[in-house]
Amino acid sequence: MSDKPEKFIDENGLRLDGRQINEIRQMKIKIGVLSRADGSCYLEWGNNKILVAVYGPRELHPRRLQKADSALIRYRYNMAAFSVEERIRPGPSRRSIEISKVSREAFEPVIMTHLYPGAVIDVFAEVLQADAGTRTAAINAASVALADAGIPMKGLVSACAVGKVDGQLVLDLNKAEDNYGQADLPVAMTQDGEITLLQMDGDMTQEEFRKALEMCKEGCRQILEMQKEALKAKFADDTALPVPDE
Ligand code: ADP
Repeated sequence: MSDKPEKFIDENGLRLDGRQINEIRQMKIKIGVLSRADGSCYLEWGNNKILVAVYGPRELHPRRLQKADSALIRYRYNMAAFSVEERIRPGPSRRSIEISKVSREAFEPVIMTHLYPGAVIDVFAEVLQADAGTRTAAINAASVALADAGIPMKGLVSACAVGKVDGQLVLDLNKAEDNYGQADLPVAMTQDGEITLLQMDGDMTQEEFRKALEMCKEGCRQILEMQKEALKAKFADDTALPVPDE
C-alpha cells in the first residue's frame, strides 16, 4: 500500500510540514567541527544531517595525476549505511558517483585552482541522515567547509531545489514531496546568481521552469545569508581582539 498523502497543500496554502510554498526548512550550520581536516562543516537542514571535511590544497599523489597549471578538485558524496530507513550498501553507487561529479562541477567555476598547480583539494561529504535534498545540503555545507579551509574562491556556492506537488511549485522539497511529487529541480549557484548545477526530474512547463528558477534563486539568497553568518560567527570569534580595560 502506498503512503502517498492525498493532498500536499491544504486549503490555507500550507504544506504537510506546515511550511509556505516558498519557505525553506530550518537550517543550522556549524563550522570547524573536525580538528584534523583543514576545513569542516556540520549542517542540518530539516531532517538532513551532513558532515563535510575539506583537505588541501596539498600535493597530489601519484604525481602523474597532477595538473601542471591548476589544482585538481575531488568531491566525494557518500551516504552512511545508516542514513536512510533501509540500510544502504556501503561503497559507491551510480547515484553517489553522479552526485559527486555534478557537485564537483558546481564548485569548479568558483575555486581559484590556478593558484595551486600540482595540488589537490579534497571534499568529503558524508550524509549521516537523509531526508530529501541531500545533494543540495551537502553543497551548502561544502561551500562553507571550503571557506573554513581558506581555499580561495570567487564566492560561496548555495543550493536548493524546487519541486512540484498538486500542480504547484514548492521550494525545498521534503521527503514525501520528493517521493511523490511531479518534478524536482535541484540548483546550485554562485553568490552572483551564476548557475553551476542544474538537474531535473519530472515535468514542468517553460513558464513553471522560469518561475522555479526564480524560487531557487530566492532560496539560495537566503541560504547564502546563513552561510555568511556562520562564517562570520566563527571568524569573528577567532580573530576577536581582547577588549582593552576602560
Ligand atoms: P537528494 O537527496 O539530493 O534529493 P534523491 O532525489 O536521489 O537525492 O533522493 C531523495 C531522497 O531519497 C534522499 O534524500 C534520501 O532520503 C532518499 N534516498 C536516496 N537514495 C536512497 C537509497 N538508496 N535508499 C533509501 N533512500 C534513499
